[in-house]
Amino acid sequence: MRNTPDKKTGDWEEKVILIVEDNELNYRLLEKMLEKTLAKILYAKDGNDAIDICRENTGIDIILMDIQLPGMDGCEATRIIKTILPGVPVIAQTAYSTGGEHIRIRESGCDDYLTKPINQQKLLDILSDYL
Ligand code: MN
Repeated sequence: MRNTPDKKTGDWEEKVILIVEDNELNYRLLEKMLEKTLAKILYAKDGNDAIDICRENTGIDIILMDIQLPGMDGCEATRIIKTILPGVPVIAQTAYSTGGEHIRIRESGCDDYLTKPINQQKLLDILSDYL
């Protein structure tokens, strides 16, 4: 029997969240934070992987995009993903909280951002705003 979702986390059983994160430990932490929401989680380890998943899967409701990725960074990946799935919100995960970084993130088409280390409540709040 599955866990009953916490009222505060919402019930996102029908939702699909794509997490783009090159660090597997960080990915596992996000997965854990989202466990109770019952959302379906897809995982991409880099930008190319994320683009491939977006091309194959049109059921994605929201994307959590790490900015620092090997090769193509999260901003570049977001620009391409926005041409494939223009209506899907992209939330950047950034290690920086500088104005310049935020402008770069916005210009790439990201809808919003979370600052690392990711706080669970902030994560759930921001997802609630867009889901
Ligand atoms: Mn990274």
